Amino acid sequence: MTNTPHLINGQEVMPADSATAEVENPATGEILGNVPLASSAEVDQAVGAAKAAFASWRSVSLSRRVQILFRYRELLNARKDELAAIITREHGKVHSDALGEVTRGLEVVEFACNAPHLLKGSATQNASTGVDVRSGRHPLGPVAVITPFNFPAMVPMWFTPLAVATGNTVVIKPSEKDPSAVNWQAELWKEAGLPDGVVNVLHGGKDAVNGLLNHPDIEAVSFVGSTPVAQHVYETGTAAGKRVQALGGAKNHMLVLPDANLDQAADSAVSAGYGSAGERCMAISVVVAVGNIADELVEKIAERTRGLTMQGDNPDLGPLISRDHRDKVRGYVDGAEAEGAKLVVDGRTWSEADKTDAAFLGPTLLDGVTSEMAAYKDEIFGPVLSVVRAENYDEALELINSNQYGNGTAIFTRDGAAARHFEMEVQVGMIGVNVPIPVPMAYYSFGGWKNSLFGDSHAHGAEGVNFYTRGKVVTSRWGDPAEGGLELGFPQND
Ligand code: NAD
Repeated sequence: MTNTPHLINGQEVMPADSATAEVENPATGEILGNVPLASSAEVDQAVGAAKAAFASWRSVSLSRRVQILFRYRELLNARKDELAAIITREHGKVHSDALGEVTRGLEVVEFACNAPHLLKGSATQNASTGVDVRSGRHPLGPVAVITPFNFPAMVPMWFTPLAVATGNTVVIKPSEKDPSAVNWQAELWKEAGLPDGVVNVLHGGKDAVNGLLNHPDIEAVSFVGSTPVAQHVYETGTAAGKRVQALGGAKNHMLVLPDANLDQAADSAVSAGYGSAGERCMAISVVVAVGNIADELVEKIAERTRGLTMQGDNPDLGPLISRDHRDKVRGYVDGAEAEGAKLVVDGRTWSEADKTDAAFLGPTLLDGVTSEMAAYKDEIFGPVLSVVRAENYDEALELINSNQYGNGTAIFTRDGAAARHFEMEVQVGMIGVNVPIPVPMAYYSFGGWKNSLFGDSHAHGAEGVNFYTRGKVVTSRWGDPAEGGLELGFPQND
């Protein structure tokens, strides 16, 4: 058993009397160790360390910050297999998928290496006679980063590298279900030369989060998780006067028009629907088949789904995060069947055959799903793909726009005008055209609309830089003192 302590000011902290949670390997049910659940004393300790470190980190030169970032990038790249192994052990996703997650996180580190360019302000000479104006962006202070279980390495990397590069200090609160990836990353920051206290890891659940949201020394909060918690974080954090970006849940639709390449669409639906066992906020969970292609498309998806495996040396997908979650997902499949959906591929047989403590559920394909069914309305977050049939494009668009979520969506078509219309009309933040999982590159910003995001700022890219900094404008006059004189009128330009 290996415990995962808090890492505060470069030191491991695991109070003997702390409440703890068990960390489990969902592929076997084995208990891997315990993680402490922070009390308000540890919240204070972590925020105090971040506050103390901010006093000097904010003044460390950009050259030095970037040297550390480059070193971190190189270390992470060289050792990404280690991190992927930790992710697989605690989260359950297969190794290739875990490596993909690390690689996408690395891209944000690379983007953050641009800090000197990203933080360049602007300047105007002689705005008025002898008067110059310049603007710059300044760090906020200690910020909290609160992350979900499904990307235990990448989501922390959406925020931490940029927060640090822009001169802030961080208290990161990872999911208590798979907490070790963030400890491993924090140790790597130390190895890269980041001073103690700049990145602190605080473990825990609800109480730790609420402690951070109400702490007077936390300036901003970046949160990713389910919609109800995102809304709570946004409301509580902003009421406490903090800047908050809170990314929530999703229900991503893939619209397939009659002219689409159906083999490409079926490959994409299966990859994006069942990859990572559907536990991705950008997973496709609904395929909207438009017109007369539905039977053929469903058959193509079913054929590919039946070929997937969760066994052997090269599984396509792993278990869900826990048996409780597996049972919840199964419940949606049971419910959809009872409500009249057609079970084209029934993944429940996997969990029935599984007599161990693992949390496997096979890929499941439902056809004839309607917008009234719970399996359609709720975010299932499992390997369940629902096919909804639509008469025409307008009906499909209306379905997507009526959904409470607006994280990602994709259209499959060969018709450029239809794709452009979709891009303009759909109320979703991230759109793929013949691309099923349109996760923006690090130099663009990631975020959804509607109940998929509370707050104004998306993650990373230009919006990430703005989120972690505030602007200052300086107006200065260095003319000849002899030119001065009293002037009580409101300043005007000449
Ligand atoms: P979650 O909301 O249960 O937990 C997220 C974080 O909040 C964790 O650190 C957890 O400890 C904490 N938390 C949980 N309950 C809390 C409460 N009542 N009060 C305060 N804090 C609480 O989410 P999860 O199950 O870990 O992650 C899956 C969810 O995250 C899905 O809904 C998924 O769509 C979403 N997600 C969204 C994005 C995105 O970019 N929009 C990305 C990844 C995951």
